[in-house]
Amino acid sequence: MYHKMKGTYDVLPDDIGKWQKLEKVIKNVSRLFHYQEIRTPILEHSELFHRSVGETTDIVSKETYDFVDRGKRANTLRPEGTAGVVRSYVENKLYAQAIGVDKYYYMGPMFRYERPQKGRYRQFQQFGAEAFGSNSPMLDADVIAYAVAILRALKIKDVTVHLNSIGDDASKANYRAALLDYLKPHVGDLCHDCQTRYQTNPLRILDCKIDGGGPILSNAPKPLDYLSDAAKAHFDELTGYLDAMKIDYEIDKNLVRGLDYYTDTVFEVKAHLETLGAQNTILGGGRYNHLVADLGGPDVPGVGFAFGLERLMFALESINFQGDPDYLHLYLMILGDAQKQDGMAMLNRCRMGGLLADVDFLDKNMKGKWKQVEAAGARFVAIYGANEKEAGTVNIKDQQSGEEKTIPKHQLYNHIVAELMKPADSCDSCGADSCEDCEE
Ligand code: ATP
Ligand code: MG
Repeated sequence: MYHKMKGTYDVLPDDIGKWQKLEKVIKNVSRLFHYQEIRTPILEHSELFHRSVGETTDIVSKETYDFVDRGKRANTLRPEGTAGVVRSYVENKLYAQAIGVDKYYYMGPMFRYERPQKGRYRQFQQFGAEAFGSNSPMLDADVIAYAVAILRALKIKDVTVHLNSIGDDASKANYRAALLDYLKPHVGDLCHDCQTRYQTNPLRILDCKIDGGGPILSNAPKPLDYLSDAAKAHFDELTGYLDAMKIDYEIDKNLVRGLDYYTDTVFEVKAHLETLGAQNTILGGGRYNHLVADLGGPDVPGVGFAFGLERLMFALESINFQGDPDYLHLYLMILGDAQKQDGMAMLNRCRMGGLLADVDFLDKNMKGKWKQVEAAGARFVAIYGANEKEAGTVNIKDQQSGEEKTIPKHQLYNHIVAELMKPADSCDSCGADSCEDCEE
């Protein structure tokens, strides 16, 4: 027997309905905000992630799935979605066709070699969005509103939007100097990784899972206090839009993000739900004004976010989110081998006409067939045996009303469609249009 790899999981049929519903809600909200889906490969050249996510970030230095292929190329299973989307945007020169802002979303598996635990996997699903072509804080607001709209559409309430700005290039340079200055006497007290980060990427220290929250970092200077006038104006304009749109947020001066490419706006959404456990950050995002140019494109700014869908699913557990139940319009009971060809032909015609239909493949007895009807939640059951074949009919039972009828075999499809089109019945008990007997 084989086992799944550590940090991976199967989605079994019992749970697939929830995933499909979640994906449907995301796609519907994406339409509202005028984002279009983009699908990029899971495999990319390793170089792409070193260049974009950053050599010294945890994701790239510790977590990527790298391998050399038979052509001796260095490949990486994508650990996040932005790099691939930006690569595709640049490679396909999508910017050259841009009429307005380009808005994309993606959904799919990401891979990180992490220590697996609840809400943290080695293969996990992200849904993310990227918007290119404007540095206006209106677009940052649009992106945040989009993420919040998804949570609202899913009826997830107990969440906080954490918002911060790490500033533009001038602010970042000022801040970096101040941070280095402040940390200098404390370097020896930081964790091993942070001692290296002090040399290579001091901003990363603020995101450290070991030192974060400790006294050294709590008292460290904050990026928000080092914003240039332009960066401050950008941030103020953004919060103005969020206020106007009635989107609640908390300014979180300690928020930086685990990837190198951010500029100005950074944000995360945390949920306060027991079902999530320690991994309660559902999504993270921000602005990246240099990434397109860094990956060989023109100077086009961008802003985006990524949701972790497993964490979203855990959040949904607390509100008893359910997928649509399995159901069939028609379950066909073929009785006797001699009726099987006709039966298969009938079934196929119904399906081609758009009915959800199935049949018993296992030659079960009647009890076994009715069990299948029940399990599949079929609305109509059609029985076709030797007598029906002889008479050119089929017996049909409406499982909702209990009504049984014999109809000409060729009318099976039309009959079911006509019944399905009838308006919803007003009496819950007996199904009639208006029913005095059942009225209380
Ligand atoms: P964390 O601090 O939890 O490691 P991160 O900063 O590495 O998160 P991002 O790279 O911003 O995460 O990815 C966006 C979202 O993807 C996260 O907010 C989280 O919901 C989800 N995510 C990240 N890593 C994992 C993982 N290994 N398993 C499941 N979900 C993940
Ligand atoms: Mg991480």
